[in-house]
Parts: sequence; structure tokens; C-alpha cells
Amino acid sequence: MYKVSFQTNCYAWVPKGYTGLYPGGENTLDYSLRSLAKIGYDGVEVDCVHILDTRLWMTSKEQRSLLKKAIADLGIEVEALSAHEWPLPYASFTSVDEESSKLGMEWTKGIIDLASDFGTRIVTTHVPNPQIRALKLLPGMPRGFLRGIGERGPIFGKPRVYTEEERGLMIQRVGECADYSKDRDVIFAIEEYSPVNFWKDFIKAVGSSALKINLHVGRVWTETYATKGVIEEPSLPEAVREFGSLIVHTHCMDYRIVSSMPPFTGQTTRPTIEVIPGAGECDYIAFIKALKEIGYEGYLTVECHRSDIPPEIQASQALQNMRRMISQATI
Ligand SMILES: [Zn+2]
Repeated sequence: MYKVSFQTNCYAWVPKGYTGLYPGGENTLDYSLRSLAKIGYDGVEVDCVHILDTRLWMTSKEQRSLLKKAIADLGIEVEALSAHEWPLPYASFTSVDEESSKLGMEWTKGIIDLASDFGTRIVTTHVPNPQIRALKLLPGMPRGFLRGIGERGPIFGKPRVYTEEERGLMIQRVGECADYSKDRDVIFAIEEYSPVNFWKDFIKAVGSSALKINLHVGRVWTETYATKGVIEEPSLPEAVREFGSLIVHTHCMDYRIVSSMPPFTGQTTRPTIEVIPGAGECDYIAFIKALKEIGYEGYLTVECHRSDIPPEIQASQALQNMRRMISQATI
């Protein structure tokens, strides 16, 4: 039976957007962990915003071991840490821009250290665009104020064109993070998979045993729909088989096709809305069966971003659905 975890992003993401600069309201990391433990999750993936807001990545080793014990006492495990860079706009550990890559590398390695101290096996991140550049700030202006705005670059696995030089840089920097992870008994799971062959070749070129894939379920599905206009099942199980043992982490989200996207009244191009796993059109049973087939032993991590439904409701409904689908798929 697969263990299920929840990515705390949903708790950090309030209707106004991210929580802002500092922990606030009921959606702190502390609240999120308690809520998820109470709902019955086995594990949690701590979101990058929570890592930044709580200054978790700046804590001492002693503080970390106290925190680790406190979290274990709640009956929940930190199974993954998200090192996405969007709380730090214009940071990219693969950037050609020196300041941007310095910021990105410091952040990413800081989270790998944190994972090592927490005994967390997985650090996941997107491979950011090499073209992202550091923002020129006014003297004394903290970067956090600019969170969430500006160009984030073509992320989320959308097709993109890289020069050979940029690809070389990405291979070198991702390799640096993977090696850094390996030395600390951590796995560096990049949330990239499309196009499949690009990323398979990329991983081969990096050549580190600590470099693996975090497969985002809904993303595979919605991308087939966005690019081809049809869902060609079994696209999800195929993606699982293609990557096989490279998959060490999953993000479980679901999508539904809608006819229009409010507040736009007119027809938009192939609109989809995000729903909790099991409430949309992704074939989760086939997906979980394929995971079983390849011998996957990791977590199924629910990732929800809906800001119009309280996170507690999303988390408890998602857990019910996940447990039901897991038992249907693993009979
Ligand atoms: Zn994801």
C-alpha cells in the first residue's frame, strides 16, 4: 500500500496569493503539519514558501534536530522538501547570469543540507531557465517584496529551445546539485519530463546516480491535451514506463476539461481547471498500476493549488480519494 503525503503549498497559498514575507495567520508551517497529521497523512512535502517564510533553511543543526523530533511526535514524516525557486524571483541555479545563479545555488544547496539534517530523502525542483536574470534591486530593498511577480521563464515542462551552451550549463549545474545531494544521502528529483527523450538524455549526460525524476501526474495529462487537443490514454502509464526506475517522487493533481474559463466569457483555447486527485479525468487507477509494475516504492504526494477551497477540505478529500484509488489499483 502506497504512503500518501501532501505538499504544504496549498496551506501557504491563501486567496491573496502566497503568505507574503513572514509566517502569518493559520497557514504557518506549524499549523499545516498539525492539520495534515490530524487528517491522517503519512507524510508531508514542505513547500519552498514555507521553507523561506519560517527561515527553516537558516536554522542551526541543533534547532533542526529538535524540530525533527517535534514533527515525528506529531506522527508525520517530512518525506520531501521543495526547492522551487519562485519565492526568490530571478534566482536560477542554472542561469547564465552570475548573480542569479549564485542566489539559486545557495538556496538549492541550503535545502539539500536541510534535507540531510532532517533525514529527508527527496529534494525536488524544476530545472529553471538559464535565461533568467537577477533583478536589479534598489539599495536596501529585500528580494522578498518582489515575490511572485515578473518573468519566471518557461517552466512547467513546456517545450523550450536551448542553445548548446545553455544545455551544457544546465548539465553542469544540475550535476553539481546532484553530487552535492549524493554526498548527503539525498536524491535530487527534478520535476521535468517533457519531452521525455530530452530529459532522459539530460539525466544520462549528467551521469549522477542521485539525479532522478518527480513525475507530476496532472501535468503529463494536461500537456497531452494542450498540445494535441485529445487525451491519448494510456499517456500516463506510458510516461511511467518510459521513465521507469528514474521516478522517485510524484505530484498528484487532477484536471477537468471545461468549456470556458471564468471570468472570460468567450471560448478560450482548451481550458482545464485543477481539481483534487480522483475528481478529474486523469486515470489514476492505471497510473498507480503502472507505478506498481515498475516497482515504485515512493510516496504519492498530493499537490493542490486551489485558493478558493480551504486547504483542510482539499487535503481531507484528496486523502480519501487517494486511499480509495490506491486500494482499487493494488488489489
Ligand atoms: Zn508539482
